[in-house]
Amino acid sequence: MPDLRNYVTTPIYYVNGEAHIGHAYTTFIADSVARHSRLKGIKTFFLTGTDEHGQKIEESAKKANKPTQVFADEISRGFKDLWDEFNISYDYFIRTTDEDHKKGVQKAFMAMYNNGDIYKGNYEGHYCISCETFFPESQLIDGEFCPDCGKPTNIVKEESYFFKLSAYEEKLLNYYDEHTDFILPKSRRNEVINFVKGGLNDLSITRTTFNWGVKLPEELNDDKHVLYVWLDALLNYITALGYGNDEKNMAFWPANIHMVGKDILRFHAIYWPAFLMSLDLPLPKHIGAHGWWTRDGEKMSKSKGNVVLPKEVADTYGLENLRYFMLREVPFGQDGDFSQRAFIDRINSDLSNDLGNLLNRIIGMSGKYSEFHIDSKDVARLHQKELDEMNSVLGNLEKFLDELQTHRYLEELWKLFSIGNKAIEEHAPWVKMKEQKKDEALATVALVANILAKASVMLNCIMPSTTTTISEALGFTINTEAYRSLILGQGLLKPFVIAQVPPLFPRVEQPLLEPAPEANKPESEDVEEDNLITIDQFFQTSLKIGTIVEAEEVPKSKKLLKLQVDIGEDKMRQVVAGIREFYSAESLVNTQVCVVSNLKPAKLMGMLSEGMLLAAKDENGLCLVRPESPRKAGSSVG
Ligand SMILES: [Zn+2]
Repeated sequence: MPDLRNYVTTPIYYVNGEAHIGHAYTTFIADSVARHSRLKGIKTFFLTGTDEHGQKIEESAKKANKPTQVFADEISRGFKDLWDEFNISYDYFIRTTDEDHKKGVQKAFMAMYNNGDIYKGNYEGHYCISCETFFPESQLIDGEFCPDCGKPTNIVKEESYFFKLSAYEEKLLNYYDEHTDFILPKSRRNEVINFVKGGLNDLSITRTTFNWGVKLPEELNDDKHVLYVWLDALLNYITALGYGNDEKNMAFWPANIHMVGKDILRFHAIYWPAFLMSLDLPLPKHIGAHGWWTRDGEKMSKSKGNVVLPKEVADTYGLENLRYFMLREVPFGQDGDFSQRAFIDRINSDLSNDLGNLLNRIIGMSGKYSEFHIDSKDVARLHQKELDEMNSVLGNLEKFLDELQTHRYLEELWKLFSIGNKAIEEHAPWVKMKEQKKDEALATVALVANILAKASVMLNCIMPSTTTTISEALGFTINTEAYRSLILGQGLLKPFVIAQVPPLFPRVEQPLLEPAPEANKPESEDVEEDNLITIDQFFQTSLKIGTIVEAEEVPKSKKLLKLQVDIGEDKMRQVVAGIREFYSAESLVNTQVCVVSNLKPAKLMGMLSEGMLLAAKDENGLCLVRPESPRKAGSSVG
């Protein structure tokens, strides 16, 4: 029996900068889950919003020379506008600066205070301003640096209210034990369990060092404190339902899924459940922690100038293509890489070839054979095998979405198109038409129409607008009734006239966005972290065999030789190489070398150098890397 209500949330996004591709990814997953839930006829509440309090926001607003609320308003609106433009089907957009939210937070604080879980004390500890978190000494890196962001921490002493987190250690461990799918992907469970087993300190939940936050409840008469942002922020998931106010949507609690980034998993899987236990509320069913996005294998950062802006990509490649790519490309929980090449491959191969062509083929065939009329009447008689295959795929599909494994969900879903394409090849309707077996030809066309219909019902949550176009062409509407009859009831389409839609996924021949600026010299930490490259990255280097045609010494330089190298192009390449200590100019003429031919030209002592020679060096000196036997100039190496 499925849940009758479903509550899905994104994290509330921190208003300290504009939305990037990672925000879009979380929001796409949550939106897809919410959409599919509604399609199944489940009452669904989908929440997103912005997290607006804390010292960092106060400081950023000051830097931007704006009143803090104005600053928060602007960035919050940026998120909301983007989600509206992206057709995100949220039911409510919460802001932690909303009056209702603040009231709800104060109610929750009082409830925890009254049951003895909150007390006043003094806190002295290592505080990370960036993460707005105190860390016990044992967690600091090298006794000083923040374990979450790596920045230096400061010792701060202040009066503070505390939440008795330590009292919840056992209860939390028991809960993880009894609910093995509480944390998704399950591979992240252990890191949470180990953290709790390491011992939980009581949590400082108020601050006196800044003002931009929710004030303590008036009853406490202690107005120099504001609430610590995590307590304030996490409570959004219930204040959005009316907690502490009209409670009007509290029937949606507990949430079915909180989508979070892996950096905030600990707050959601440890603090949040403890707060809820204290409030005597049930815990969310799942916390889904997703990974990061890189670009072309590199960390995205403003300083590198390689940040992918979701709106720019969506405007260029199509919003739903972007949704499909992001949800198909990455196993949930792992880091994903945004590369235009991978994106274009998905568009051309999965969307254009597999899905788009299948629709075009049946439009074409039905036009030729039956004036676009399609009738399912002979499908069960002639294609039971394919129907069985199809139903078995459909029957196993939803569990992947339930576990947020959208890449598996889509991978499985795509099997339907293989069944369709294979049926066309095997039954060759054009041959059947020649053999005067029109019924059989039309049954195959109708089979494929049904495959497309069912696939578009299931794909609707990922590509809502594209699948609406497909279903309109197939003469039906995607709604709960269609889900029940076509998917649950394994029913077939009623007779219809197929509409001639233009190709849905035009092929993309080349990257449409400017490539990422060439990375500056990577910081040393990056090198350590990731010194493996992919085969694609390797082949970005073009290596060629070259024949040295001329060589001369460079006046005033002890090291440099100026070479003219034939690498099979019309023009010689001039290469200035630092090899004079090891080779005389004349000894090099008519010998072969290995040239990196796609380096950006550089100037050395005022001379242009248009390539680099491969060489090996050790304590005995340097030698050039050469082919074992002569090769044609310009032969590629690799
Ligand atoms: Zn930090």
